[in-house]
Amino acid sequence: MSCLFCKIIAKEIPASIVYEDANVLAFNDIAPQAPVHVLVIPKKHIASIDDMESSDLVKDLFVVLNKIARDRGTCETGYRIVVNHGRDAGQAVPHLHFHLL
Ligand code: AMP
Ligand code: ZN
Repeated sequence: MSCLFCKIIAKEIPASIVYEDANVLAFNDIAPQAPVHVLVIPKKHIASIDDMESSDLVKDLFVVLNKIARDRGTCETGYRIVVNHGRDAGQAVPHLHFHLL
């Protein structure tokens, strides 16, 4: 398995995991761009937002994003959710991920 984030899901390489359930994993970004910078990913390998098919998974991801935003206190101060798709957006890892910043 060559995908970096699939290796994190499989615990083959370490990450600072902040949330995990059957479908979703969240971990701190290794190069944070803000005081809070968490990546929220589906456990199923989906290359990008362009390949999302399940509306249930969209809901699962946003429920986790909202939970982490609340846990970190950013609901009061403000936060952004960013998804990069493809080369021109600078998507570096070809496994769908939502940045919570
Ligand atoms: P993107 O440019 O949207 O593909 O974002 C990829 C993100 O993954 C970047 O913010 C990287 O800092 C982050 N990243 C890369 N490798 C790791 C890793 N091993 N653990 C945590 N975050 C990582
Ligand atoms: Zn993957």
